[in-house]
Amino acid sequence: LVRAVNVMKYFGHNEVLKGVDLTVDKGEVVCLLGPSGSGKTTFLRLINQMETLTGGRIWVGGELIGIEERGGKLHVRHDKDIARQRSRIGMVFQRFNLFPHMTALENVVEAPTKVKKVSKAQAQADAMQLLEMVGLKDRASFYPAQLSGGQQQRVAIARALAMKPELMLFDEPTSALDPELVGEVLNVMRDLAKNGTTMIVVTHEMGFAREVADRVVFMDAGVVVEEGAPNDVLLNPQHERTKTFLNRVK
Ligand code: ATP
Repeated sequence: LVRAVNVMKYFGHNEVLKGVDLTVDKGEVVCLLGPSGSGKTTFLRLINQMETLTGGRIWVGGELIGIEERGGKLHVRHDKDIARQRSRIGMVFQRFNLFPHMTALENVVEAPTKVKKVSKAQAQADAMQLLEMVGLKDRASFYPAQLSGGQQQRVAIARALAMKPELMLFDEPTSALDPELVGEVLNVMRDLAKNGTTMIVVTHEMGFAREVADRVVFMDAGVVVEEGAPNDVLLNPQHERTKTFLNRVK
């Protein structure tokens, strides 16, 4: 579903990604680990076209993102085309970024009605189902400020799912939460994984990575250092940098 080849991203002289290759199959859960500043967030933002590539290529669902080949030449895609590509991807951020002036239900209903032109009645029915799935049916009429961080993050997941994305990206979705609220968000993510959702998850939750990931990818200083089955990478890392990182986060 996702194929990234030799992905590079520079911010001025700061070479944040220096040739990242990564493939994610449909239904696969890939956890991206690595020290702060290693480029994990930037990589997710590139997949979702919140940043533009300095070099390399990314395909999502077999389609080159951001650029297209026409007449043997590469062209930047039209905004409308980029919006269409982005609507196939759901993203959940570290900070809860719900619309503060909308209820939980309104947050979830917003994109399907505005972007996909789904009828309000249909979008509301779908949204209620999603809120039920994340355990917040009884909070549908609450505003974000009336919800805990964990509840807000679960609404954010429901909101991303409302667009029926082919791919879900999670950028440290629990790192801004009080420890007692982390579990409820991870549980929702675990359910999604069980249901076959394709997910790329940047996380420092090693327990989650071990239990849920099909594959773990360790990044450092803008490159993939090693990847493999969770038990291999997490319990028996081959590279010094992976070992050092794992010793620090344990
Ligand atoms: P963290 O776990 O702290 O989020 P990360 O691995 O996700 O780390 P990134 O957030 O991708 O790392 O950041 C990698 C580097 O890119 C950092 O040095 C950061 O300062 C730089 N960077 C990220 N976004 C920008 C930007 N918009 N402009 C300039 N530099 C940026």
